[in-house]
Amino acid sequence: MAGNRTFTMIKPDAVGAGNTGAIIKMIEEAGFRIVALKKTMLTPERAGQFYAVHKERPFYGDLVKYMSSGPIVPMILEKANAVEDFRNLIGATDPKKAAPGTIRALFAKSIEANAIHGSDSDENAVIESNFFFSELERF
Ligand code: UDP
Ligand code: MG
Repeated sequence: MAGNRTFTMIKPDAVGAGNTGAIIKMIEEAGFRIVALKKTMLTPERAGQFYAVHKERPFYGDLVKYMSSGPIVPMILEKANAVEDFRNLIGATDPKKAAPGTIRALFAKSIEANAIHGSDSDENAVIESNFFFSELERF
């Protein structure tokens, strides 16, 4: 059975552009409940850990630099079928391929600076949530 929580972070491009509020509004209007939320920043080392699965990919170095270039807003979200429904809300990785009306179609600047992250499985949602939040920060 699909889990009811996912992990997201609003990325440095969208935070820097002043789109945090607009994106959170879309997330809540889509029926997700915010379980945990903060504004923080990743060091290059922590960004590298978060994206370790991509370390052999050609874009990894740039991605780590970008993800540690400014503040981010990580969140844990709750809704039935959370992982799949949230991936549908954010749209494809490449904003040129993202469906109209999705968060990436509306706010992403490029395939790298694509406004927002969404976990790709229940297992990764747990790992990624634990990367940013203790149990005491979840409500
Ligand atoms: N990315 C990139 N170039 C690419 C593919 C991905 O810079 O060709 C970045 C982009 O920020 C993306 C992140 O790496 O969101 C992780 O890639 P993944 O394939 O996991 O995409 P996602 O799950 O975020 O849609
Ligand atoms: Mg991914």
